Amino acid sequence: MAYRGGFSDECGVFGVADSDDAANLAYLGLYALQHRGQESAGIASLDGGEIHVEREMGYVADVFDEARLSRLPGRTAIGHVRYSTAGASLLANAQPIVFATGRGPLGLAHNGNLVNAREIRTALEGKGALFTTTSDSEVILHLIARSGAPTLAGAIAEALSEVRGAYSLVILSRDGIFAVRDPNGIRPLTLGIREGSPVVASETCAFDLIGASYERDVEPGEIVQLSHDGFTSHRFAFPISTPCVFEHVYFARPDSRVFGRSVAASRQGFGRRLAREHPARADVVVPVPDSGMYAALGFAEESGIPFALGLVRNHYVGRTFIEPKQAIRHFGVKVKLNPVREVVEGKRVVLVDDSIVRGTTSRKIVKMLREAGAREVHVRVSSPPTMNSCHYGIDTPTRGELIAANQSVDEIRRFIDADSLGYLSVEGMLEAFGRPQQATCTACFTGLYPVEVEEEEREKEHALDAK
Ligand code: AMP
Repeated sequence: MAYRGGFSDECGVFGVADSDDAANLAYLGLYALQHRGQESAGIASLDGGEIHVEREMGYVADVFDEARLSRLPGRTAIGHVRYSTAGASLLANAQPIVFATGRGPLGLAHNGNLVNAREIRTALEGKGALFTTTSDSEVILHLIARSGAPTLAGAIAEALSEVRGAYSLVILSRDGIFAVRDPNGIRPLTLGIREGSPVVASETCAFDLIGASYERDVEPGEIVQLSHDGFTSHRFAFPISTPCVFEHVYFARPDSRVFGRSVAASRQGFGRRLAREHPARADVVVPVPDSGMYAALGFAEESGIPFALGLVRNHYVGRTFIEPKQAIRHFGVKVKLNPVREVVEGKRVVLVDDSIVRGTTSRKIVKMLREAGAREVHVRVSSPPTMNSCHYGIDTPTRGELIAANQSVDEIRRFIDADSLGYLSVEGMLEAFGRPQQATCTACFTGLYPVEVEEEEREKEHALDAK
């Protein structure tokens, strides 16, 4: 499910330097990162000092075919998948963004969201800068292009001293690829090697697909140059390091290592801890597939209640799905999920999902399970109540639409019609994540924003609220 009222960018980035088949590898890398953004996909390659770019709305597999990939020659390439807000100039906002600058052509792919982009943009426009997109990422390219620093790494560092927020970047240039993570390291970015060629990706699942080995993460506040010389590190800011726990709760793929930890192991830990905090008398533990799978496994292991696949997901629901005209009950969720009557009939079910956002999914699933004969439904959520919008690149609705920002746990329980409802505590989540509060971004749960969010950025929320 994706939220269409948002203002931020959920994205995945990839890069490979000095390799045969660079564009093909970028295609495969993006294919593995498809879960991070389904709205548009793009690849830029460097050949003979020039940058070629192909971008389109849609899934990676639909955007690229052999003919298109053959228009991306060269041994160095970067790629991007994006899910962002609906709006007028969607394709113009697809990345990589490519610019001609005094330092030669530059291509940029960005995961995250800047919190002071508007302010910088207004100032640059005042000096005559012409913007070609409405995306916050473009300000970074403008700032790099205007920098007088002698080297490109220096220009990137200078540009980044002005921006604040979350950014994991891959920048394509004649000097290779520059991979960058903001000082808080809010979004992931990992380095790998494939047959001697340096690669970079949002998540390690991209390395698995292309047969690359994981080397290390790009550190918060670090710029890493990827070239035929391998990796060259530059530090541009003191690391603060508050990675986003929601990557482990929901966003990243469970087969990835993110922030140096297995996502599957974190989720299982959330589930185990949840079972201790909110035990239930029940016959089966049923996950909401796919997001609740590992937490449900952890819950089952800890509680001793058998794990059962009581809901089946249709994996082939695409964006172009046409809803029928006549109303069918719970249609939206039914397309994706269907209960297995034999598993739930007559049973007391513990239903485990990773998060409740608006509450509509849980409400419909509880109803479906009851209609399939479940005797009781106890909902357990493997994260704390989602109470605040993300300003760092996860698409969340405004506070007005976040059920936990407006209702108590018992009111939510009544709304979703569960027999009981339990959320993982912030402390429990952090313990299973293995990081303390001051070294983690938990803003969506606690309202503690590690990078101050400007009034203007918050106002976007109010503006949307007012609609
Ligand atoms: P809701 O019906 O609004 O309560 O949505 C809850 C469901 O959305 C859960 O199954 C979550 O796995 C999923 N979810 C949570 N965060 C996001 C997000 N940022 N984008 C898309 N789906 C999400």
